[in-house]
Amino acid sequence: MKKKFETNAIRNQMGRTEHLEHSAPLFLTSSFVFENAEDMRASFAEEKERNIYSRYSNPNCTELIDKVCQMEGAESGFAFASGMAAVFSTMAALLNSGDHMVAAQSIFGSTHSLITNFFPKWSIGHTFFPIHDLAAAERAIGPNTKLMYVESPTNPGVDVLDLEALGKLAKKHNLIFVVDNCFASPYLQRPIEFGADLVIHSGTKLMDGQGRVLAGITVGRADLMDKVYRFSRITGPALSPFNAWVLSKSLETLAIRVDRHCDNALALAKHLETHPRVAWVKYPFLKSHPQYALAKKQMKAGGCVVAFEVKGGLEAGKRFFDAIALLSLSANLGDSRSIVTHPASTTHSKLLPEERAAAGITDGMVRISVGLEHLSDIIADIDQALG
Ligand SMILES: *Cc1c(COP(=O)(O)O)cnc(C)c1O
Repeated sequence: MKKKFETNAIRNQMGRTEHLEHSAPLFLTSSFVFENAEDMRASFAEEKERNIYSRYSNPNCTELIDKVCQMEGAESGFAFASGMAAVFSTMAALLNSGDHMVAAQSIFGSTHSLITNFFPKWSIGHTFFPIHDLAAAERAIGPNTKLMYVESPTNPGVDVLDLEALGKLAKKHNLIFVVDNCFASPYLQRPIEFGADLVIHSGTKLMDGQGRVLAGITVGRADLMDKVYRFSRITGPALSPFNAWVLSKSLETLAIRVDRHCDNALALAKHLETHPRVAWVKYPFLKSHPQYALAKKQMKAGGCVVAFEVKGGLEAGKRFFDAIALLSLSANLGDSRSIVTHPASTTHSKLLPEERAAAGITDGMVRISVGLEHLSDIIADIDQALG
């Protein structure tokens, strides 16, 4: 019988060793040994599936990859040292000089920089399209376009993109459709069901969920993942066995953690909607969210990130940020500790006001990654900081 998500997250683990350990062990080994010359020859010729060297594969990485493949409904995957290593290696493995990609305008900052500042060095072009403008996305597709790249929900604006419509568009033009699913996690959203060919995660966020390890993973179609694997085993962005071991254990509690993140986030969002010092609140599962129906269709719950606007602009936003006492002032998200950012005065302060506006960042906008502290303590800290 097909088992449920929560059960697989716990029970999908590597086979036991001679010690019959209950919890999967850690294989801190850079290489593996061979019986004899014939064994070594056959292993290198890939006539047998086995571990050779931890840059290629390692039991802890394999366990993690198998688990995430099962969670996402994917055929195959590779685990990377960070989310950005996954993004870079995936694009670099699949695109050639002269190719072009289309990407949604609202994507993670480092991914945006990679596409605009580095890929042009290898003559790989790009066009960004406004996230809700399918016609513009289609116009951006040219004869050399090979790949479409999106994230949903977006950061920091928590907008929701129509994955099914974008998937159909990608299919129509024979593009590889890549979705960064890090804001949702496979527990809330499975992009492959909406037409994604590949799904990328920063394991650093909800997957680890406790702010300990950097990790990244790409899963999806076996033919594409074979190219990503061949590129990665040579270029060396592999995840360390230790971080894979930590992350695989983290995934055992993904469902229960994400449920609580989402409960806390929705309750906080509803509370902020009634607060006199707050101009607006954005959260995918609030009825007031512009893509509420879409979020309900493609996500199980709204995720851990709430955005809202403090009345009074930049200065009021900064005052709020500086008055926070319990929550962390940090740039990460998806952590058990709630995290606050005020993009206009911090992460996005170097941008011109017009550039911030184009990125959907308003002066008083605050982003909260709602953690697992007791809801009443989270709300109390935010309320006192709002004054
Ligand atoms: C953090 C993040 C990344 C990059 O992941 P790292 O593990 O920090 O390299 C990519 N995409 C999104 C949406 C992220 O939030």
